[in-house]
Amino acid sequence: MNRHNSATLEWDSESPKSVHFNDFYFSTDDGLAETDYVFLKSNKLRERFSSLKHNTFTLAETGFGTGLNFLTTWLLWKSSSTNSSSLHFISAEKYPLSKNDLTRALSAWPQLKHEAGQLLTQYPELNSGFHQLRFDGGRVVLTLMFGDVVDCYRQLNVKVDAWFLDGFSPAKNPGMWTPELFQLMAYHSKSNTTFATFSCARVVRDGLTQAGFIINKKPGFGLKREMLSGTFSGTPMQTNNKEKTPSWFSLPPKHTSDKTALIIGAGVAGCSTARSLAQRGWKVTLVDRHSAIATEGSGNRQGALYAKLPVEPIPASRFHLSGFLYSSNFLKQNLADRPDIWSPCGLLQLASSEKERLKHRKLADSGNYPDSIVRFVEQDKASELAGITVNNSGLFFPEAGWATPPLLCKWLTEHPNITIKTSTHIAKLEHKENNWTAFTKENQTLSASIVVVASAADSTLLEQLKQLPVQKIRGQVSLTQSNIQAPPLNTVLCSQGYISPSKEGRFCFGATFDLKDEATDIRESGHQHNLTKIAEMAPELANTLQQYHTDNSLTGRVGFRCASPDKLPMIGAVPVYEAFVEDYAQLRHDAKKAIDTPPKHYPGLYANLAHGSKGLISGPISGEIIAAMLENEPLPIEKELIDILNPARFIIKNLIRRTI
Ligand SMILES: Cc1cc2nc3c(=O)[nH]c(=O)nc-3n(C[C@H](O)[C@H](O)[C@H](O)COP(=O)(O)OP(=O)(O)OC[C@H]3O[C@@H](n4cnc5c(N)ncnc54)[C@H](O)[C@@H]3O)c2cc1C
Repeated sequence: MNRHNSATLEWDSESPKSVHFNDFYFSTDDGLAETDYVFLKSNKLRERFSSLKHNTFTLAETGFGTGLNFLTTWLLWKSSSTNSSSLHFISAEKYPLSKNDLTRALSAWPQLKHEAGQLLTQYPELNSGFHQLRFDGGRVVLTLMFGDVVDCYRQLNVKVDAWFLDGFSPAKNPGMWTPELFQLMAYHSKSNTTFATFSCARVVRDGLTQAGFIINKKPGFGLKREMLSGTFSGTPMQTNNKEKTPSWFSLPPKHTSDKTALIIGAGVAGCSTARSLAQRGWKVTLVDRHSAIATEGSGNRQGALYAKLPVEPIPASRFHLSGFLYSSNFLKQNLADRPDIWSPCGLLQLASSEKERLKHRKLADSGNYPDSIVRFVEQDKASELAGITVNNSGLFFPEAGWATPPLLCKWLTEHPNITIKTSTHIAKLEHKENNWTAFTKENQTLSASIVVVASAADSTLLEQLKQLPVQKIRGQVSLTQSNIQAPPLNTVLCSQGYISPSKEGRFCFGATFDLKDEATDIRESGHQHNLTKIAEMAPELANTLQQYHTDNSLTGRVGFRCASPDKLPMIGAVPVYEAFVEDYAQLRHDAKKAIDTPPKHYPGLYANLAHGSKGLISGPISGEIIAAMLENEPLPIEKELIDILNPARFIIKNLIRRTI
C-alpha cells in the first residue's frame, strides 16, 4: 500500500469536474435520478433486495467517484431489504477524491446527508489498496479499492451479484474499458449476475459479449440515446489472471455447517477473532488456560500502536500499514470514549543515527506515504510535539499512539455471542463427522464446527500444528507503580526502545528482546537495558526514571512474542503437512512448476498466530481475515497480501529450497 494520486477537481458552481478526464462526475440537476434509472432499476435491485432472506448481496462497481452510486444503493437497501441480510458494495477508484472535495461534492445531495456523513467520517487515507468500511452495525460493508481497476479486481476473492459499470466514458477514459476488465467481470460473475452501464459504446458491447454477458440495449437516461444492461451467461472462468495464482494458496471453501467456533487462546488474536465471528452471528467459545484472559503476550499495561515503514513499500509493510489503519479506524469508531483503552496521542519514531535520520528524510520525501500518516520532523519540532526534549529528529505518526491490550481484549469479548472459558487448557484436537472435539487437560471436552488456534507459540503443541515454524522471544518491560514527577510526555517515543505517555501517572517502557531464553524472572539487567534505550531518545526523562528506580525500584513484566521466520503472522487454514509435501514435491526440482492439485487443509481448522512485536496492528485485522474466509466475504486486504500470511508458505519455501 502506498500513497495514491488523488483526483484534481474543477468546480462549475457545485458540479465537480475531473481535470484528468475533462468530464463531470454528476449533474446536480438529475444525478440521483440517473443513478436510479441506469444502475438500480436496470439491475432490479429493489426486487432483489426485498427477496433476500439470510444471505449477502454483493455489488461491484468500477469508478467510485463521489460515492453517489454507493449512497443511493445504501438508501434503497435500507428501505427494501430484510433485517437478516447484508450488503457488500465493492468499488475501485484510480483517482480518489480528497476528503475535502468529497465533502463539497456530496453537499449537493441533502437527501443523502445522513449516509454521506457516515461515509465521510470513515473515509480512509488515500493509500493504494483495500479499505473496508462498515455501516449499520456491519450489515452494510463498503470495500473501497484504491488503484487501477484491473489490478484491484485481480486481488478480489468473491463472486458478484450485480455490476455497476460506471466511471468516465470509453471516449474519455479508454484505459478502463479493456478486455481484461470484462474478463475479470466474467471471472467474478455467476449464472444470474447482472450488470448495467450508461455506455453503449462498441468497445463495451463487444467486450461484454466476448466475456460471456448477454447484453440488452435500452433507452438511455435523459438526452442519452441508449444504455446497456444484461446478465452473465457464460461459464464462470477458472482463472482471474493470465498467470494462474499458485494452487497451494487457494482459499478453503466457504464454511457451510453450523456457525459454532472454538477459539483457543484469549490474547489480542483470539479475542479479535471472537469479536469478528460473533458480529457475524457465530456462537463462539473462547478458551484460555489461565484464570483470566490476556495474561501472556497481550498482558502489557501499554503497547505502541504503529507500523514501522520502509522507504519503498513491500508486501509485508503494506500488510502492516493496512493493519495499522484498520486498528486505528476500528478504535476510533468503537472506542472514542475509552481513554483507558487507547490513546491516539501520536508517535515519534526517533532516529538513532545519522544514517537513520537520512533514511527518515528519504521516506518522507518519497511520496510513498501521505503526510496524514507519517511526516519528517526536525529535533526541535519533535521536542515540541513530545512536550520534552528529545535527542534527534524523527518520523511523526499523528494517528498512532498506545493501547492497553488486556482492556482491549476485555472489550472485544463483551458480546452476547461469546462465551469465555478460563482455566481451560486444550491438549488435543480431533475431527469427526464435520465436528471438532477439543480435549482439555482438566478432562473436559468441547466441540464446535470450526476451531481457530490463537495460542501463540504453544499452538505447535497441538498435533495438527506441530510443523508450523515459530519462535518464542522473551521481552521485559519496566513499570513505575506510583505517580512520578516527570515532565509531561505527550506522544509515544520509540527507536530501539519505546515509552508511552504515563497512564494514571505510571509509565510503561521497554522492551528487551531475548532470544532462546524462556525464563520469566524480572531482571535488573532488563531494567538497565530499558533505561538506556530511553536515555538514547530523551535523557532528561531517563534521568527521572533512573532516580525513581533508585528511590522506589521499578517493577517489570516478562512476556513472550511469538514470531515466524519471516516475521509475519500466520493467518488462515491449517495445512495438512504430509499432503502438502507429497502433492507439491515437484517444486523441489522445478520451483516454477504449475501444479493444479488443490491444497489440503484440516477442514475448519484455522491458525491465527505469530504476531511478533506487532500484535496491536496485526491482531484486530486478523479476526476480520478469518471471518471473511469463513463467510466467503470480500477479504479486507488484497489476495496477494493474504498469500504472504498463509500458514502453508513455509512448507512451499522449504520444498523449493529442498530443505525438506
Ligand atoms: C515485552 C513485549 C512488548 C511488546 N510490545 C508491543 C507493542 O508495543 N506493540 C505491539 O503491537 N505489540 C507488542 N508486543 C507484541 C504483542 O503483545 C503480541 O504480538 C500479541 O500480544 C500477541 O497476541 P496473541 O493473541 O497472538 O498471543 P498471546 O497474547 O500470547 O495469547 C495467547 C493465549 O493463548 C493461551 N494459550 C496457549 N496455549 C493454550 C492452550 N493449549 N489452551 C488454552 N489456552 C492456551 C495463552 O494463555 C495466551 O493467553 C509486545 C510483546 C512483548 C512480549
